[in-house]
Amino acid sequence: MYIVFIGPPGAGKGTQCRRLVEYLRIPHLSTGDMLRQAQQQKTELGRVATTYMEQGKLVPDHLILEIVRLRLQQDDCDEGCLFDGFPRTREQATALESDLASRNGGLNLALELRVDEAELIERVSRRAQTEHRDDDAAATLQERLRVYRSQTAPILDFYRKRGNLASVNGLGTPDEVFQRIRHEVDSRRNGQGNGQGNTPT
Ligand code: ADP
Repeated sequence: MYIVFIGPPGAGKGTQCRRLVEYLRIPHLSTGDMLRQAQQQKTELGRVATTYMEQGKLVPDHLILEIVRLRLQQDDCDEGCLFDGFPRTREQATALESDLASRNGGLNLALELRVDEAELIERVSRRAQTEHRDDDAAATLQERLRVYRSQTAPILDFYRKRGNLASVNGLGTPDEVFQRIRHEVDSRRNGQGNGQGNTPT
């Protein structure tokens, strides 16, 4: 199964993605993690990405598409994977659609994790204190929310029109939220999109 996971900063994407890849036993492709790794390894990509990330801005599409494509070419992604934090723009969504067109029936599901902004701001400021993520500072959070609204939220429509979108309420305990996600995933993999009729895979 190929799944994209979409949600604003602080929605709990990281936690839920970890659970979902464990449940489905597919690789977890987090562009945020890939970029942070490039920063730690002090590669050219890491250096360029830092200037955008520190300001809460998106890293340019061509750089993101390059790292995602390289990762997708690895054998473990042949049967599916979970995209976390990608696509974040319409251009990324369109590129992913053509990259997946020839694979296993294409994208199976776009999951949106919904949390209102007041709750997001509270969650992220708590995380900034405990995890010391530079991009969680209050000033960049506002910018990341703005970027989410203007650039990422429009791709929800892109997936809605294709019948791929499932929106999940992100409020509640991590267990409660994961139950909702599992429900969406199970109904897709048992019903449609895997090219194997009703056989759960
Ligand atoms: P979040 O806390 O919003 O889930 P991520 O860990 O996914 O953050 O990403 C951190 C930062 O990395 C983003 O604010 C952005 O600057 C950059 N980034 C990650 N994924 C992408 C992407 N698909 N396109 C552009 N920039 C990205």
